[in-house]
Amino acid sequence: MSDQLTTVVTKKKIAMSAPKDDSLTGRKRSRKDRIDIGDEFDDESTPAQDVLEHVAEIPDDVILRQMRLFRDDANPKKVDLGVGAYKDDEGRSLVFGTVRKAEVLLTASHAGPMRIYDELQPRTEATRPKDGLLDKDYPGMRGVGFFLSGAQTLLFGEDHGLHVASVQTVAGSAACRIAFELFLRFLPDMKIFAPNPTWGNHHYLWSETYAYHRGAKLPEYQYINPDTLTLDLEGMTQNLTGLRRGSIVLFHLCGHNPTGVDPNKAQWDAIADVVKERSLVPFIDAAYQGLVSGSTEDDAYFLRKLVEIGVPTIVVAQSFSKNMGLYGERVGALHVVCESEETARKVTSQLKMLTRGIYSMPPIHGARIAGYILSDPTLRMAWEEELRAASLRLWKVRSLLVAELVSMGTPHPLGVDWSVLASHGGMFSYTGLPAEVCYDLREEHSVYMVPATGRLCFCGLNEGNVVYVAEAIDKAVRRHMEI
Ligand code: PMP
Repeated sequence: MSDQLTTVVTKKKIAMSAPKDDSLTGRKRSRKDRIDIGDEFDDESTPAQDVLEHVAEIPDDVILRQMRLFRDDANPKKVDLGVGAYKDDEGRSLVFGTVRKAEVLLTASHAGPMRIYDELQPRTEATRPKDGLLDKDYPGMRGVGFFLSGAQTLLFGEDHGLHVASVQTVAGSAACRIAFELFLRFLPDMKIFAPNPTWGNHHYLWSETYAYHRGAKLPEYQYINPDTLTLDLEGMTQNLTGLRRGSIVLFHLCGHNPTGVDPNKAQWDAIADVVKERSLVPFIDAAYQGLVSGSTEDDAYFLRKLVEIGVPTIVVAQSFSKNMGLYGERVGALHVVCESEETARKVTSQLKMLTRGIYSMPPIHGARIAGYILSDPTLRMAWEEELRAASLRLWKVRSLLVAELVSMGTPHPLGVDWSVLASHGGMFSYTGLPAEVCYDLREEHSVYMVPATGRLCFCGLNEGNVVYVAEAIDKAVRRHMEI
C-alpha cells in the first residue's frame, strides 16, 4: 500500500494541493495556468518513472579514490603521502591547541568568555539566548564580522588602510568559486590565467561556473621547468608580459599546490613589477599562509608587495582549512582590494548577492573560532607559535627524506639532484617521479602519492616512517630504471 502511495500520482492529489488562485497576486488562475502547473492529468494512475535513470556515474576524484584504497590497505606500514591534510609526528590528525581553547572559551557557560565574545560581536537582549550562551542565528550576508576583520588583518597587516570588500565563504574553495563568478559578471572580456600546473580544483571550480564554461580549463602561464623542478621565472614573466592589459592572473600566495615551488622575494618583486606594468589583476589563492616559512608575515610577502607598489585591484581567496586545521569547519573569505571606498561598497553588495545565490550564508562555528584566535592577542601569538612548529616539522621531514635518498645514492628519473625537493616548501613537492614509479610504490610498498603528477605530500611523513619511504622510493626507481 505504501509503495502504491509513493509511486502513483493521481489527478485528485495534484488538484487538492494546487491553490485556486495565485497566492502572490491574488489573480484567478486561467485554464492555461492550470495546465502549466501540470494539474490536467488524465484520471489513470501514472506509474512514477525513474526520471534520473539516464544519469551517468562518474568516477571519484583520484585523490578520493586513493583515500579509499589507503583505508582498505591492510599493510601496517602503509603511508599516506597523497592527502593534503597536516598530521603530527605520530601520523595523527592535529587539532591546534589554540583552536581547542577558543572553542572551549566560546562555548563555556561562565560569564568571562562571554564578555570577550560580547566585545567582538555586541549582542542585544534579543540576540542573547536565555542561557546567555552563543546564539545560532544567521550571521548576516557577509558572515561573522569580527572574523572578517581578523582575516583582513592577517593578509594585509594591522591598520592597512585599504578599501577592501570582504565576504566570509565556505572555505577557500567557495572563495575561488565566488571570485570566478565575480570575474564572469563584471570583467567578462578578461581571461583568467592559472599557473601550469595549479591545484586541479581551480580548473574544476571554473568549469562549474556558467553552463557554457563546463569542461573548460583555465588558460595557463608557464610556471615551473618540468625538467629541473624549479621556477621558470623567465618563461613566467615572458608569458605574463605578453598578456592583454587587465587580464586576471591566478597566483598561489605560498606553498604552491601541487609543486611546492614558490618564487623567492627577489623573484616575487620581478613578478609584481610585471603585474603593475601590464595592469594585470592579481587573483591570489592564500591557502597556506604561515605554514610554509612558519611566519604569516613572510608568507604574505607577494601580497604586501603588490599593495606597496600600488596595484589598484587585488582579489584574494583565503582559506583557514590548513593554517588553523579547520578543514571540516569550512572557514574562508574572499577579499577584493578596491581603489575607493565607493567601489568597495558596490563590490561588497555584489559579493553578498553572489554568495546568497549559491549557499545563502556561510557557517558560523568555525568562523567564530578563527575570528576569536585572530582578535585575541594572546591566542593569536600562541597560534602563530603552533604554526611555526607545524611548518618546522614539515621542513624537518622534507630534509630527512632528501638526506636518506642522497645517502642511498638513489638515482632521480630526471637526472636532477634530490636536494631540489629541499628548495621547495610547504606541504607538497613535485617529485618528478613518473606514474609507473608511483603505482609501484603503492602496489609493492603501500606508499601512496598522487600517481598522475608525482606529487608528494609531506604531511604523512615522520621520523618513524621516513627511512621506509626512502627505501621504497629507492627500490621503485631502480626497478623502473632497471638499474
Ligand atoms: N587553494 C589551494 C591551492 C588548495 O590547495 C586548497 C586546499 N586543498 C584550497 C584552495 C581550498 O581548500 P578548502 O576549500 O578546504 O579551504
